[in-house]
Amino acid sequence: MVKKAKSPVTYAKMKGIVSYFTALIKDKKLRSSHPIYHHFYHSRMDFLRPEGSLSDDDRATAVCYSNPVREEPQSQVSAGDFDYLKVIGTGSFGKVFLATHRENGKYYAVKVLQKHIILTRKEERNVMCEHRVLLKTLNHPFLVKLHFSFQTKERLYLVLDYACGGELFYHLQREGVFGEARARFYAAEMACALGYLHSLKIVYRDLKPENILLDSAGHVVLTDFGLCKEGMSGRGTTRTFCGTPEYLAPEVLLQEEYDRTVDWWGLGAVLHEMLYGLPPFYNADRLEMLRNIIYQPLALKAGVSSAARDLLKRLLNRDRAKRLGAKRDLIELQSHAFFSPIQWDELVAKKIQPPYVPVLSGPGDLTNIDPRFTELPVPHSLGACEDHGANFPGFTFINENILSLTRGH
Ligand code: ATP
Repeated sequence: MVKKAKSPVTYAKMKGIVSYFTALIKDKKLRSSHPIYHHFYHSRMDFLRPEGSLSDDDRATAVCYSNPVREEPQSQVSAGDFDYLKVIGTGSFGKVFLATHRENGKYYAVKVLQKHIILTRKEERNVMCEHRVLLKTLNHPFLVKLHFSFQTKERLYLVLDYACGGELFYHLQREGVFGEARARFYAAEMACALGYLHSLKIVYRDLKPENILLDSAGHVVLTDFGLCKEGMSGRGTTRTFCGTPEYLAPEVLLQEEYDRTVDWWGLGAVLHEMLYGLPPFYNADRLEMLRNIIYQPLALKAGVSSAARDLLKRLLNRDRAKRLGAKRDLIELQSHAFFSPIQWDELVAKKIQPPYVPVLSGPGDLTNIDPRFTELPVPHSLGACEDHGANFPGFTFINENILSLTRGH
């Protein structure tokens, strides 16, 4: 199990970057002609952009939502409608807060993005892209749900379901490894979510511990559609890359052509960590780990079933054309022996009892959130009723399907 130091800047997000790049620069074994070297120094990392509907051309076109929306409604929901209680996570452009809606009393996770950071890094289009994917994926049981989004002069607000079970890997860190039945359940729910995204021509591409949450019943909730990492130049994307190289497919690391199968590699990496306590190819030396991901044969120790090992081998196949899922995507995974105990229809209907139910005192429980987040101060200005900013047109959204501003709904 890799110790993931949680801090306001999260696992390796800041600290690792400098040392990692320094190591890369100094590493004499990495010649400038090496693809990794090239990747770091010459790439705008546009490969981190989901395919299909998320192209630049598409961004420029009018947004077409698949769910009923009211665009730019006049002050229907605003920053001042919420009480911001605690910090529950941090990200590239701001923080995520536990908040309650003053009128309906419900708890939400409110992701607050600082506009000045987005604008300074010229990431406004990518943020709008994240927003758009959230709008397209409102109806999947294992993807985080967007309720509202709005903006003030200084900030963007995404009001999401609060996944109060915390990060899956918060639990894994505490337990070391999961038994196979538990790992299978989580992997199956993640696979369903990824397969659904693929059906929408979206590659999640960034399956990593921080983005896999549990809801109050113990079901998986994938959050952060990786969109703040799209086509990033410079620090932002580099941070993403450096923070979690252990989950990235070799073709992504090498900036080769990639497709949706990068997500099946990611699932293999996460499943490996659940079963063995460490990501595959792990090495404390991150440069060595990168080399391992790209070149080292996968060695799977005994201790897990042959079905699990076979699945890992197939998911962690460096040849993406031969990787499980390359031909028929999710269907190929569903018919693998490791998943034979899973009733997929029941799983998606959330009819299978999760193997672990978070112990919670209520919907706003913070027990499963790392104290290093919850101890951070909550800025008073969050709920200030400033003038509505308009430099992110199309951002304002109310989910009509789940709109329930009346207490008790
Ligand atoms: P990154 O810089 O990693 O891309 P980000 O700015 O996109 O981060 P998120 O990854 O969406 O931000 O959120 C940061 C953290 O906040 C997550 O790792 C998670 O711990 C927490 N978090 C996000 N959404 C929720 C949610 N709906 N419920 C509970 N916690 C959440």
